[in-house]
Order: sequence, then structure tokens, then C-alpha cells
Amino acid sequence: MKCHTPDCTGEHLNGTISHSVIYRERTLVLHGVPAEICPECGDAVLHDETLIVIDDLLKRKARSKATAFHYER
Ligand SMILES: [Zn+2]
Repeated sequence: MKCHTPDCTGEHLNGTISHSVIYRERTLVLHGVPAEICPECGDAVLHDETLIVIDDLLKRKARSKATAFHYER
């Protein structure tokens, strides 16, 4: 997949990122989230399916006081 950052010629590659989300007014960090990452500018794109998994994960972890989680399906 070609990068959509203007003037960037990178091609996105599959990898994992640390992704932060705001959930119920808390900032949570998810590690090991699969994404397509541009090696040139670092732009990362998450798949729709991944966003659904994250949403479900946050609902399951909502009672936890932790602010960092590992992505799991
Ligand atoms: Zn790029």
C-alpha cells in the first residue's frame, strides 16, 4: 500500500505499533497492535477489523485500573 502522506514515497509494510486511545476520559496504550506502517515517515494505518478488536478489548478491560494493555483478539 502506498503511503498517503504528501511527498512521501514509502510503501506501507505490515508490523506492530503501540497505539494510544482515549476511553472513558482515560488515555490507554495498547502494545503490539497490528498495523501497516510507512518505513519512511512512520505513518501507521489500522485495519477496520483491528479497530473492532480494540473496541471489544477496551470493553472487556474497562474495569481494570491499568493504562497499558497488550493487543489480543
Ligand atoms: Zn510515508
